[in-house]
Amino acid sequence: MLGRRSHRASLVAAGVVTVAVLAALTGCTGSGPASEPAATATRSAPSAPASTEPPSVDPRPETTGTPSTDPSAGAGFGGPRVSPDAMLATVRLLAGRIGPREATSAAFARAADVVQRRLQAYGYEVTRQRFAVPAGNSWGVPVEAGTSVNVVASPPGLDPTRPHRIVGAHLDTVPQAPGAEDNASGVAVLLETARLAARPTGPGPARPTTFIAFGAEEPRGEGDALHHFGSTAHVRRLSAAQLGAVSGMVSLDRVGVGTSVPVCTGGLSPLRVRDDLLAIAGREGIAATGCTDNTASDHWSYEKAGVAAARIGGTSYAEYHSAADRVGVPVRAQLRRVAELAWVWVRR
Ligand SMILES: [Zn+2]
Repeated sequence: MLGRRSHRASLVAAGVVTVAVLAALTGCTGSGPASEPAATATRSAPSAPASTEPPSVDPRPETTGTPSTDPSAGAGFGGPRVSPDAMLATVRLLAGRIGPREATSAAFARAADVVQRRLQAYGYEVTRQRFAVPAGNSWGVPVEAGTSVNVVASPPGLDPTRPHRIVGAHLDTVPQAPGAEDNASGVAVLLETARLAARPTGPGPARPTTFIAFGAEEPRGEGDALHHFGSTAHVRRLSAAQLGAVSGMVSLDRVGVGTSVPVCTGGLSPLRVRDDLLAIAGREGIAATGCTDNTASDHWSYEKAGVAAARIGGTSYAEYHSAADRVGVPVRAQLRRVAELAWVWVRR
């Protein structure tokens, strides 16, 4: 049961703009285990004034697992609020109970089943796209050729040749990592945003939004042709009319660490989606950082095809692509920031 009404969210100006310009970003994928880049100053966001970091403690009260339908609830969100508890439960399920989810593995298949069932329960029409991936070396671990899958959830009756949006997050991990931050965090925010978007009461998405859990984002070798397989497969199977109807795409990738939310393009995309996200962050009092040189997630597949796209996430962290990327790495406050940002973007 999806709210299909078009609605212009009534956003409350949050006062102090907390958008900072410099980002310390790394990719989700990269060229090898030793290549995790150091924090890099990025090109500045033209519309984003520099300012200070906000306090790390979010003063807003925690929500419970059952969102309120009170339209006055939330700080400017005018409807059901995000549930950090639900997102942390998703992280525990994927990274704790299921564990490492290499794109062709049985564990990945279990994770895909879980995500599919969840999205179906929210009322989406869920399809699977299978695609082949090559043998190679994923962050120092040999991997065999095989098949992986995208889990694609659309509102019932979606006409994919009419304007709609895509929110995606990769479900796979490198073989050695439980992937709590990379990228159970992104999948957790995706599921939470999909849940809110599907609610039958309260304002719904401004445009129909398709939610995709991608397979095989992580590298299987060096170079641009050996990662991002799921998003590449999705883009390639869109007709010209369908591709032209994608009015914006957001990739949620590594969204649970840090105190400021990275919002980036890879430099090809029109800046519309990125700048919309940064503007929302400013209005809602969500600390965010902008850049235009991040090609290391699934948004890049859409950018290369001419779609306005952006990545949310990518803050450096010590446990990256290691066995230490466990439950506890993504933190409640950052998951909430990202989910609120994504949800307001979907609604506006
Ligand atoms: Zn990732």
